[in-house]
Formats: sequence, structure tokens, C-alpha cells
Amino acid sequence: KVRVRFAPSPTGALHIGGVRTALYNYLFAKQNGGELIFRIEDTDSSRFVPGAEEYIIESFRWLGIKFDEGVSFGGSHGPYRQSERRAIYKKYVDQLLDEGRAYIAFDTPEELEAKRTEIKNFQYDAHTRSLMRNSLTMPKEEVDRLVADGAQYVVRFKVEPGEDVHVHDMIRGDVVIKSDILDDKVLYKSADELPTYHLANIVDDHLMEVTHVIRGEEWLPSAPLHVLLYRAFGWEDTMPRFAHLPLLLKPDGKGKLSKRDGDRLGFPVFPLEWHDPKTGEVSRGYREEGYFPEAVINFLALLGWNPGTEQELFTLDELVKLFDITKCSKAGARFDYKKCIWFNHEYILRKSNEEIAGLFAPVVAGNGVDEPLERVTQVVAMMKDRVDFVKELWPLCSFFFIPPTEYDEKTVRKRWKADSPQVMAELADVLESLDDFSLDNQERVVMAWVEDKGYKLGDVMNAFRLALVGIGKGPGMFDISAFLGKEETLRRLRRAIA
Ligand code: GLU
Repeated sequence: KVRVRFAPSPTGALHIGGVRTALYNYLFAKQNGGELIFRIEDTDSSRFVPGAEEYIIESFRWLGIKFDEGVSFGGSHGPYRQSERRAIYKKYVDQLLDEGRAYIAFDTPEELEAKRTEIKNFQYDAHTRSLMRNSLTMPKEEVDRLVADGAQYVVRFKVEPGEDVHVHDMIRGDVVIKSDILDDKVLYKSADELPTYHLANIVDDHLMEVTHVIRGEEWLPSAPLHVLLYRAFGWEDTMPRFAHLPLLLKPDGKGKLSKRDGDRLGFPVFPLEWHDPKTGEVSRGYREEGYFPEAVINFLALLGWNPGTEQELFTLDELVKLFDITKCSKAGARFDYKKCIWFNHEYILRKSNEEIAGLFAPVVAGNGVDEPLERVTQVVAMMKDRVDFVKELWPLCSFFFIPPTEYDEKTVRKRWKADSPQVMAELADVLESLDDFSLDNQERVVMAWVEDKGYKLGDVMNAFRLALVGIGKGPGMFDISAFLGKEETLRRLRRAIA
């Protein structure tokens, strides 16, 4: 059974790249009838940010990405918060120590720093460990005594040199790395009695029976170490398969997308608005800017994968069917946020007028207008193809609900001719004589009148528009007058010429 996980560290807001990683995990799990686990990797207490976990959960709730088990979802492989799994990790650290696959090191940060100045490109590995203060260079009694005395230490993984480590990646194929270039990574710190990311991650993926590790490319350099850890534990047979997803690049394709690019270039890099508890800074979110979750999902799905056809609009269910992890690109994906705006527009068009009206009605009411939902829906039907966001509707549509109190000066100068008052007075009479005020009937009668009088249609319509809505552009004039109805249309016309 396929089991995958999304395993964020609660170090702040969830980055949009993390959302893409979670989405690809979700798609892969669902298309294989598998399970998606939500694990919190919080073993680095120095980077813990309060509220981050809740923020991440709320983000996925908004996006509609559902987890099968994990923090806040329950399940039989818990606890799913790593800080609650100390005892489990300790056992596995001891196992590696007992088997001589890891060792204890006492070097202080100052000693390590001194070595770094002394030896160029210093790294703690098979070539240098003999120079350091650790259980490989010290008598056992001294090591035991120091530990018993409460001296601080770390446990390091003993990487054997001279090996080719193969990482089989579903996207990148076989990646081979020489073990000589790997350092003896710290697996555990006595100071907080917690493992580091690497150990906790491997132990948990094993115990939680994870079958596939799908994560960002930034973890590819760690993968050889992870393979060696699986081997050291004797878990090679059930080692998960890896897929490292392409990086998200800046909109211009130059370099990795950073958290700062959003504010710099004017788009959100977080799913929800984020209030940083440390700095007090507020970062924009897709939800608050008025994006539909479907648009964000659709946009992210295509950052690093495409179906090989021209189709661009997909529901989540369609994505589940079509997504193919092996067809993800190796090259970074340009974060073309304008495309997300386009998707939002497409979803406005795809959603029913009733649904959009449901979102727009509170805005209308908030502007002090009391109109039934049905009328709001009519306006939405006329106007939604002109906007990318629901929030753009009010400025474009307010005239349907509120008569103009002033008339745009420039338009008046250009379009309100000397004879406009007289022509509009005539038009008002023509419209007043109508019993059938439908769009079609108004149009038929007014056209005939214009022709009969030999007026210029453009001039008449421009003046009519200015009188009714106060500005120079908008939807078809008879759409507007039919919506306003006879009484309101005549009232506005006559007020404009008064
Ligand atoms: N905790 C890691 C992160 O924050 C997870 C990496 C992984 O998926 O192995 O991205």
C-alpha cells in the first residue's frame, strides 16, 4: 500500500513550494489508493515558531488537500509530532552506537570553529575524525565518565569512505555519490535529548511505513546519507523510493524563488496571510488576496509537471487521474504568478453566477445596498468576464446599485454635446411610452427612433451612458437600462438633464 507523507518543520508560514510538495504527495497517494500522512518535524527547537503548525493545517483545509493521518488527523502510527517521539529515537540512536555505526563526539562549538580556521574546507569525516575528541579517539572509560558527568555531546553517523552510494530517484534516475564527500552528520544532541532531522526523518519514515518520499530538490544532497542510514539500520528492503521535485524559480527564471520575492515583486508566496510573531511583519496570502483555492491548486500542479497536452484547467480529481510523478521536470519551474491570476479569472468564468454572487453579495450589502441575491446574480452574469477577482467587481458594478452623484468630467467634455439634454429628454419620453421594458424591446424602439430622427447612434448612446452611470464605459446600454428598470432609468435620465 502506497504511503506518503508531508513533513514540514513549524518554522514559520508554509511556503508556496511546500504547498506544491504536499499537493504532489496528495495526487500520488490518491491515484494509488494510498494514504497521505501529516508529520510535524519539530526537533530543532531553536527554530520553532508558535502558530506555524496551526497555520499549516488551516492552509490545507482552505486548499482542500486532505490528509489521512497525522497531527490533528489521528491514525495508528502516532504520535506524529517528532518532539513527542524522543524515546523512540533514543532507542535507535543507541542501536547505531552499539553496532559501531555511530559514535559520540564531545567537540565544543569553539573547538570545531578552531578546526575550521586551521584546516581549509574542514569537514568532520573519515579523514579528520581521528583529530577530534570523540569515542573513536578516546579511551572508553573516559567517554563513559564524561557522559556520566553530564558532559554535552553529539552522536555522529560514521560514514565509511570509498563507497558509491546510489540514490534511485523517480524523476532523476540513478544518482551516484561517493561516500568520501559526505561528512559524519550529527544524528543526536545530548543538550536537548533530541535527534536531528536526518535521524528522526529516517526512523519515522520507516516506522510509519512510508513507501515513497516526495520532497523538494533541496533535500537531494541529503538523500545519500539517508540511504546509508537505511542500510545501517538494516532497513534497505523497505527503503522508500525517492522523488525530488524541481525547484521553484523566480518569475524571471533567475535563481530560486525566495520568501522575500513576494513582497518585492507584488504577489503572495504564502497560501494564507501570515503574521510573523517574532517580527510582527505581515506577509500577503493567496486566500486574503481573493484567489480561489482551485486556482492556486491548478497553478501549482503545473509548476514542474504537465500532462503533455494543451489542457490547462484541471479539477483536483482530474489531476489525481492524470498526474505522473515520473514525468516531472528535472529543471526548475519558473514561478509565473501572472498565470495564477489568469487561472483565477478562468475559475470565475467556470463557477456559476450564483456562486460568485454569493461571494459578491456581502460586498454589495457592505456598501449599504439592499438588493435581493437574484439581482446581484444578474449583475454578476453581466460583469464577471471583466474581472480576475471578486473584489474587482464592486468598483466596476456599483453604478448598477447606486445612481451617479457626479459625472466624469472628461467624458462630459468629450461626449455630452450641446444638443444632448434635448436628445435625452426625447429619449426619456420614448422610453416612458414603453410597456415592455425588456432589453430587446427597448433596443428595437430606440433604434427606430434614432433612425427616424437621423441622430448619430454613437452620440445618443454615449450621452445615454453618461446620464445613467456617470462614466464612459461599461456593459451594453440596454443591459443596464433593462436591469435598472423603467422607473430608475427615467429618474436617472431626467436628473442628468435637470
Ligand atoms: N522537515 C523537512 C522540511 O521541512 C522535511 C524534508 C523531507 O520531506 O524529508 O522540508
